[in-house]
Amino acid sequence: MISEDGIRELAGRRSSTVVTSCYLDVDGRRHPRHADYEAQLEHLVRDGRERAAGFGPEAARSVAADLDRIGAWVRQGFDRSRVRGLAFFACSEDDWFEVVESPLPVGNGIVVNHTPHVRPLESVLQAYERFAVVLVDRQRARLFRFELGELTEHTEVFEAARRAAPAAAGAGAGHPAQGSRGAAVQRRTDEVAHRNLKHSADVTFAELQRRPVDHLILGGPHEVVVEFEGLLHPWIRERVVDRLAIPATAAADDVRQAALCVEAAVTRRHEAALVERLRDGVGTGAGVAGLEPTLSALVERRVDLLLVSDGYATEGWRCRSCRYLGPLGRRCPVCANEMDLVDDVVEEAVEEALANKCQVQMVRESADLDVLGRIGALLRF
Ligand SMILES: [Zn+2]
Repeated sequence: MISEDGIRELAGRRSSTVVTSCYLDVDGRRHPRHADYEAQLEHLVRDGRERAAGFGPEAARSVAADLDRIGAWVRQGFDRSRVRGLAFFACSEDDWFEVVESPLPVGNGIVVNHTPHVRPLESVLQAYERFAVVLVDRQRARLFRFELGELTEHTEVFEAARRAAPAAAGAGAGHPAQGSRGAAVQRRTDEVAHRNLKHSADVTFAELQRRPVDHLILGGPHEVVVEFEGLLHPWIRERVVDRLAIPATAAADDVRQAALCVEAAVTRRHEAALVERLRDGVGTGAGVAGLEPTLSALVERRVDLLLVSDGYATEGWRCRSCRYLGPLGRRCPVCANEMDLVDDVVEEAVEEALANKCQVQMVRESADLDVLGRIGALLRF
C-alpha cells in the first residue's frame, strides 16, 4: 500500500552502486491478458540494460540481476483484482528489492540512477480522489469509504449515533395497508422511515465533515435515494457524483466494483474537461498544443499543467548545457551546443515538468487531444 511516509523512506534510500526503479502498468482494464503487460516489461528490461551500461560494468551487473528478479516476480503472478500498477525498486549489489503494489495505474517507465525514482508514486498519491458510498433503503443505511482502490465499510457510525440519540427508533416492516386504519399504520411507518433517513443524512454529514471526500456515491431503491439526497446537507449534496441501482444489502465486492466504474467515469470526465480547457486556451493564448510549442513552453518555464496522451512517445533532442528540449537537432538553438538524441522526448518533457513542480495529467483515449497533437500545456502566463 502506498503512503507518504513509505515514499519518503524510499526516496531517502542510498545504494552503493545504482538503483533500478521500474514502473509497470498492469491495469486489467487496459491489459486484459498477462501477455499484454509482459510484452511491455520486455521493452522496459531492454531499456534498463541500455541505461545501466552508462554506469560501468559493476552497475550493469547489479541492474541485470535486478531486472531478472523483477521479471521473475511478475511471472510468478499477483492479485490483479486489487493491483493496477507495480513499482519495483532494486539494488542487487546491496541485496535490496522492494515492490509497491499500487491500486491506481502507473505509467510504464524505467530509471537507473543513484537514488530511487519515486516521483510517479508521488503523483499517484496526489492525484487520487476519495469517495464515499452511502447505500439506503427503508430499513437501513450503510456507509463505505473508497480510497486508493480499497473499500472499507463504516456502517457502525449510524449505530453509534443512534445509541447517542435514541429518539430515532427502527422502522416497522409495514404490510400493505388496507382501509383507514391500515392507511394510518402506513403513514406512521412512512414517518418513521423518513425520520430514520433524516438521521442517516445527518450522520453522513457529520462523518464526511470529520473526514471529507471528493465525491459521494448513493445507492438503493430509486425513490429512497431521491428522498435521502433531498435530506442531505447542501455541502454534501453537491458532492453526489452518481446514483447506483444496487440494493442497500449489496455485498462489499459488488459495491467496490460499482465504485471502480464511477471512479473511471469521474476520471474520464475530469480529463475531458482539461482537454476542453486546453482547446479553448490554444484559441486565447492561455495554452499551447503540439510537440514543438509545448516543449518551448516547458523550457521557458511557462507551463502550469502538462497534458499528454497516454502512450505518446517520440524521438527528440535534449541539450546537456541548458536543458533545452526540442524535436529537431543537433545544434541547440539556445546555446548552440551539440545536443543528445533521446529516444523519448515526451518522457523527458514529463520529467522536466515534474521537476519544475508543474502538474502532469496523462490522458487516456481522447480523440480531442490526439487532434491537438497528443501533447499540450496550460500556461502560467
Ligand atoms: Zn543548449
